[in-house]
Amino acid sequence: HDLIPYKGRFAPSPTGPLHFGSLITALASYCEAKAQNGQWLVRIEDTDIPRIQVGATTAILTALEAFGFEWDEPVVHQQDRLEYYEQALQQLKSNHLIYACQCSRKQLSGLSANGLGGLGTYPQTCHHLNLPFDQHAIRLKTTDHTICFDDLIQGHCCENLNQTVGDFVLKRRDGIISYQLAVVVDDALQGITHVVRGADLLDNTARQIWLGQCLAVPSLHYCHIPLAMNAQGQKLSKQNLAKPLNLNQAPLLIRQALHALNQPDVEVDSPQRMLIQAVDQWDIKLIDHNMMLTQIFE
Ligand code: GLU
Repeated sequence: HDLIPYKGRFAPSPTGPLHFGSLITALASYCEAKAQNGQWLVRIEDTDIPRIQVGATTAILTALEAFGFEWDEPVVHQQDRLEYYEQALQQLKSNHLIYACQCSRKQLSGLSANGLGGLGTYPQTCHHLNLPFDQHAIRLKTTDHTICFDDLIQGHCCENLNQTVGDFVLKRRDGIISYQLAVVVDDALQGITHVVRGADLLDNTARQIWLGQCLAVPSLHYCHIPLAMNAQGQKLSKQNLAKPLNLNQAPLLIRQALHALNQPDVEVDSPQRMLIQAVDQWDIKLIDHNMMLTQIFE
């Protein structure tokens, strides 16, 4: 029978080195792609220049190699692809799906404090102003309908963007392309079919589906992995200073990450051979959406 084409990716932001939570996401996306006979790509999401840490991209790629990961196409860096994001904005503009916005962050926080903006939704202050597109933020129009998708782990998820975020920013006033725009454009251009990533990104998915529909790109399959927590019950993140992965302990950390993902044990070996065994034994259904991936090892 025909193989379903599968192309997955791991898309770290170089805001710091990889930590145990990133290893879990990388491992899950990699094993699922390879278990489906698919391809797996690495994309460096470096559009948000003020948050980029010098040397983080190199550190991330070095760590991925040390953990035995191999990617099937050259790594792409979003900073080199700004023209594609501009093309997408042009397409949305010709279809009257975006508008320029001059609201400052201060104004907006004032609005929601007054209760005028609902629960953090943008009140469309600039919708009809026809402001010029340069020098201003650019927002995508949302409509009052419910967007649903079936997540492999989280199940049936629905969101009405009008009620949750409202018209959202695709390009900031300082010219920075938003994560939402870059991710949707690149997933489409790279031919990604399946997104496996941390559950902290679950509430971006409806926005990305809507943007994908506005750009008329193919829809994707989603799988959001439960988050790794530290012993205090906080998610492991660069913000709460999760420790960088220790490359000298790759075999141990691979075993711990597989354990956190509720997968069978693999024998201690070279990282490359451990990943081969992990892929062989991989079953994404073993991951439980209620699971708290508490880690005391970090
Ligand atoms: N770059 C995002 C992050 O590091 C992940 C993007 C994605 O997987 O969609 O959180």
